[in-house]
Amino acid sequence: MARPLNVAILGATGSIGQQTLDVIDRNPERLRLFGLTEGRRSASRKAEYVIQGQAGEPDFDVRVNAMVTDPRCDLVVIAIPGARALAPTMAALTAEKEIALATKEVLVMAGALVMKAAGARGIRPIDSEHSAIWQCLWGERLDRVRRLIITASGGPFWSHPDLDLDQVTVEQALNHPRWSMGPKVTVDSATLMNKGLELIEAHHLFGLPLRQISVVVHPQSAVHSLVEFVDGSLKAQLGRPDMRLPISIALGYPDRLADAVPPTNLEDLGPLEFYPLDEARFPAVRLARAAAQAGAGRPAVLNAANEEAVNAFLAGDIPFSGIIRTVERTLEAFSGGGEDLEDILEADRWSRAYVKETRGILR
Ligand code: MG
Repeated sequence: MARPLNVAILGATGSIGQQTLDVIDRNPERLRLFGLTEGRRSASRKAEYVIQGQAGEPDFDVRVNAMVTDPRCDLVVIAIPGARALAPTMAALTAEKEIALATKEVLVMAGALVMKAAGARGIRPIDSEHSAIWQCLWGERLDRVRRLIITASGGPFWSHPDLDLDQVTVEQALNHPRWSMGPKVTVDSATLMNKGLELIEAHHLFGLPLRQISVVVHPQSAVHSLVEFVDGSLKAQLGRPDMRLPISIALGYPDRLADAVPPTNLEDLGPLEFYPLDEARFPAVRLARAAAQAGAGRPAVLNAANEEAVNAFLAGDIPFSGIIRTVERTLEAFSGGGEDLEDILEADRWSRAYVKETRGILR
């Protein structure tokens, strides 16, 4: 048998990072912890590289670059949140490493460039919806796909149509009904911007036009996403919400790691419901689709404005409903840019500065 895969984790102390460590611990013949980055907290692990700090700090960036381009490193798990993950992802791809990607923002910002850098290796998705679609597509021909259907739990507010979204507290927004995740993605789930970002992510990962990707609300989060084929057949991937499964699939590919999660008892799932997305109350998916269709840096503007607006909400500076208003107004104010990496990074910088400067009038 081949030696274990050397795995580096960017963001080992976050929710995905911790669960990745768990998957590695349980598969010592297959996986070995090669290196990690940790933020403020320590991951308390020994590895060839243990890197403390934040992306953007010069010493941190240099050491991360050395880790992800080290010839002994086989696979890099990208699990640091937000736009900061883009530079190390590009460095690892350029060094021809396998990438398991949890940070969807990387593909939202620069999907075309990232997929080009990945080439035939592609990207292994950790996002649960994209892992589901990926599994449904194994052994299938892309030209026989009619559409991808991304499921959305709806977040904590979807099932309360009378709730005033101006009055939502941080605590309410962080209380996700199904998945346990970090604060950024949990707030994104509540605004449904998470589905907007996932729509763009799927478009790049699987190379299908945006019009062939749709979103359906499925409050039970048992069906993790679906693929519809030209003959009318639908394939779905089901299971209990547990991120250790998509992580195990990304790390074990093309094999499956035994007992990654306890088996799902179908009788325990109960009824499965599906509803159309209310785009008037939750306009995030429509905004994301329009930004991706227009291109020219707009997805990066959308992503950065959203990241800044979520931070402003978490800090108590803007109301919950102000998050999507901020994204919409920032997109309206953007005059457009180009498609190469420098243009995208500039669109990202412009968007963040715009949100910070105008926070007072965007409430
Ligand atoms: Mg997801």
